[in-house]
Amino acid sequence: MPETTPDVQLPRIVIVGGGAGGLVLATLLGRKLGKKKLASVILADTQLTHIWKPLLHEVAAGSLNPYEDELNYFAQAHRNHFEFQPGTLTGLDRERKVILLDDMKDTDGEKVLDARELSYDYLVLAVGSVTNDFGTTGAQDFSIHLDTRQQAEYFHRTMLNHYYRAEASGKTEALGIVIVGAGATGVELAAEVHHAIPVLARYGLDRIQPADVTITLVESGSRILSGLDDRTAAEAHKELEKIGVQVLLNESVSEVSADGITTKSGRFVSAQLRVWSAGVKAPDFMKGLAGLHNERGNTLVVDDFLRTDDPYIFALGDCAYCNAQTASGKRRAVPPRAQSAFLQAKWLTKHFPDLMAGNPVPAFEYRDYGSLISLSEARTVGNLMGNLTGRVNVDGYIARLMYVSLYRRHQAVLYGWTRTFIFVLRDLLIRKSGPRLKMH
Ligand SMILES: Cc1cc2nc3c(=O)[nH]c(=O)nc-3n(C[C@H](O)[C@H](O)[C@H](O)COP(=O)(O)OP(=O)(O)OC[C@H]3O[C@@H](n4cnc5c(N)ncnc54)[C@H](O)[C@@H]3O)c2cc1C
Repeated sequence: MPETTPDVQLPRIVIVGGGAGGLVLATLLGRKLGKKKLASVILADTQLTHIWKPLLHEVAAGSLNPYEDELNYFAQAHRNHFEFQPGTLTGLDRERKVILLDDMKDTDGEKVLDARELSYDYLVLAVGSVTNDFGTTGAQDFSIHLDTRQQAEYFHRTMLNHYYRAEASGKTEALGIVIVGAGATGVELAAEVHHAIPVLARYGLDRIQPADVTITLVESGSRILSGLDDRTAAEAHKELEKIGVQVLLNESVSEVSADGITTKSGRFVSAQLRVWSAGVKAPDFMKGLAGLHNERGNTLVVDDFLRTDDPYIFALGDCAYCNAQTASGKRRAVPPRAQSAFLQAKWLTKHFPDLMAGNPVPAFEYRDYGSLISLSEARTVGNLMGNLTGRVNVDGYIARLMYVSLYRRHQAVLYGWTRTFIFVLRDLLIRKSGPRLKMH
């Protein structure tokens, strides 16, 4: 475990949250400032390993084995000249410039680390978002969220358990899966699970036949993918219907129970597996955190330089509310996406030395590179934004390639292109030689 006592000579940059934004920032700042001993860069995260969040629907469906794709924070810190501190942020004292990390317990509930204070000169909050169930009755107790790897693995285990039980009973059974919220997470999960199900039957778990699995996507709005353009939404909707996913529009869920969901219109959808993916908010502890200014969904308001109203505290990614400039001159709220967190991390890396020195820096400008929705290996739809071309719709092989390249780019920043290329080869070999689905 690295030393926690403050390094008096060097400015201490503490980043909380090692996800799509925070881990990129820690890695790049480690290489830029940590390696040259210009600053101590410290990353804190609740987890010991990182999985890129947009892959969680694949973990849930079993098409991705998280043990093959995880990044260990300690190893990453060692290689990239930053320090890793495991722990969950629970408090912030702006006067003393310290954060509080909660005590850490192992899976048996045994305390491993005591609660600790960590001092900072500059703090970057990158703790992401969690599912917002808007307090819907039963949602906490009877639906699965897809915020963490553990939750995705829980969905996968629960789904497999239905198959194992059906197999042991010797009887043919049906399985209902309901997903509340047809945003990117819900749509991608529905498609990924749909494509995983025939593989289970092929592996001999055939008491639940693919035709006896019903996947229902429930959306309160008048169309799916409300954050994306009409054409992408229409294409995705058509594809979902084609593969047999039932899409219910204009249906608000009023209650989740142990055997299904009920909508405000009185409709009941029976389901053994229930997922809530209808909205996001920053974690609740961010609300009123040390008097910092909040916007909707507990997010922290940041200015054009990703600073909160405390000049020593920055925020980025899903937990930040940034009404940023765009190339067109108009301002827009940066959407909660992996690409936004990545762009903000890159911007902050570039300008951190000047921000620390109090030098002027250009404002962060949000650039939308388009959106892609993976409907599993079979189909990806979306659009890309180009300087000259404007918004271009993409589909098929090109869209799939672009979608996969988003993750490979994330890996390339973390590991470099040589290792990323090796990972690509490794993944191809695993795909050719291993089972198509994780079965445990
Ligand atoms: C299934 C799914 C599919 C998605 N698909 C896409 C997609 O295709 N394209 C896209 O652009 N976006 C997608 N997203 C959204 C994208 O994942 C997020 O916008 C992005 O990960 C946000 O990055 P972030 O760095 O803000 O937070 P995250 O990547 O969520 O990282 C937050 C980190 O903070 C840590 N943390 C949280 N609380 C604490 C605490 N109190 N103390 C210490 N550490 C803490 C977490 O462990 C985590 O490591 C998807 C999301 C999901 C769930």
